[in-house]
Amino acid sequence: MDDISRTRLREIFGDRFRDAPDDRLCYSFDATGREYLPDAVVFPLCTEEVRRTVLLANEFGFPVVPRGAGSGFSGGCLPVRGGVVLSTERMDRIITIDSGNLLAVVEPGVVTETLKEAARRLSLFYPPDPASMKFGTIGGNIAECAGGMSAVKYGVTRDYVLGLEAVLGTGELIRTGVSTAKGVVGYDLTRLLVGSEGTLGIITRATLKLLPLPGSTGTLLALFRDNGAAARAVAGIVAARITPSAMELMDRSAIDCVRRVVEIEMPENTGCALLVEVDGALAAVMAEADGVEAALRTHGAIEVRRATDEAGREQLWKLRRSISPALRKIGAVKLNEDIVVPRSALPVMMAFLSDLADRERLTIVNFGHAGDGNIHVNVMISGTDADERRRADAAVEAIFRKTIDLGGTISGEHGVGISKAPFFEMEVGPLGVSVMKRLKAAFDPKGILNPGKIWLDEGMARS
Ligand SMILES: Cc1cc2nc3c(=O)[nH]c(=O)nc-3n(C[C@H](O)[C@H](O)[C@H](O)COP(=O)(O)OP(=O)(O)OC[C@H]3O[C@@H](n4cnc5c(N)ncnc54)[C@H](O)[C@@H]3O)c2cc1C
Repeated sequence: MDDISRTRLREIFGDRFRDAPDDRLCYSFDATGREYLPDAVVFPLCTEEVRRTVLLANEFGFPVVPRGAGSGFSGGCLPVRGGVVLSTERMDRIITIDSGNLLAVVEPGVVTETLKEAARRLSLFYPPDPASMKFGTIGGNIAECAGGMSAVKYGVTRDYVLGLEAVLGTGELIRTGVSTAKGVVGYDLTRLLVGSEGTLGIITRATLKLLPLPGSTGTLLALFRDNGAAARAVAGIVAARITPSAMELMDRSAIDCVRRVVEIEMPENTGCALLVEVDGALAAVMAEADGVEAALRTHGAIEVRRATDEAGREQLWKLRRSISPALRKIGAVKLNEDIVVPRSALPVMMAFLSDLADRERLTIVNFGHAGDGNIHVNVMISGTDADERRRADAAVEAIFRKTIDLGGTISGEHGVGISKAPFFEMEVGPLGVSVMKRLKAAFDPKGILNPGKIWLDEGMARS
């Protein structure tokens, strides 16, 4: 980035333009732990400042990389080609919550939990609940189409985005979608922008759908001897025509990992755990919790625990919530994947993962959203052993191939970014890649927005 670009950005942003080494360092990494230094960081307060940044980037040819909280797991906000990181953290206003029309209008830097809380105070519900919701932003959630535990019943971020305002790679400002419950005029550009990982437009405002807040919640934790029994219980719950608001599976590797760092009482022969939650009106919740418990017991649960109050609920969630902190203690590096297979293929995939771990002498910790067939597969790497790293990389590729063979997808919620770019074409095929590149050219002809993401550029190393 040249001196003239810096001067012009300083004119727009004043002290909200930063290019000191420590500022650049703070915006050089995300949750992947990988690091790429930007040339500068800017903190817009409004759409017009975003627009002026992109116009300048067109004039001087530097990349602009949008960034929310930097909590992404695929390197989406990393400035792999340098340029300017555009942080949305100061565009964090909830502009309106419209109770009558069940919608909210927000800026992209609003933290997801802040919106959920504001809606809750009005007895309204914004369902998407990524585990990062206490720090991740709505802009980042939309750009990655974030999911969470409630997706099994309520869907993912995409299902709550009615309309968007975004600055395209040309600097033009587009408004897509509607502020109504329905709308079908022309191509669905809103859906195209959702999950586009900051490569088509910078989202500056979002109109989001809200629901009435469910009145109560019932939580059950079931312990099984093995994954097969738990998978049959999941099928049993679905067959009973119950749609839980969470259905989280933890295999033996995940349970062992948690029990190395947290004390949780359970029978020694526990090989799999299933956490199930139902929500709605109290009478319906009681009836559904009974139905879930019956299905769990019929399909071989060795123990079923049921929470009757908030403290009990927290206790049941402890196992699931402890996995991520526990993982940090057992491996120096984790290759964190978020594959999805058809629900019926879950037992086959779980058996494949267990065999692969044994065969390749790797620790692979699996847990996730059983109701969606979305498994968080964590291939753990203990240190700097090159052979272990090679086996781990080969295992990830084998997992992706098996996932696609089973009719699944290599990412349910974390996106492609740089970490899955080498495998992108494996799933979408050459024509898919070509059509997406043509779409990119229509939105961002000079390749200003977040270059080097989703597909491998020429000369980009596979890593
Ligand atoms: C502990 C932990 C738990 C997590 N749990 C989940 C989970 O349960 N479910 C899940 O889906 N993810 C999860 N994630 C991943 C991550 O939090 C999500 O991908 C989240 O959506 C990223 O939001 P962010 O604000 O941090 O975005 P960033 O990481 O800053 O950016 C992510 C992508 O969005 C783009 N972007 C950001 N803002 C904009 C904008 N305004 N316009 C256009 N593009 C933009 C960036 O360029 C980048 O490509 C987790 C991460 C962590 C660290």
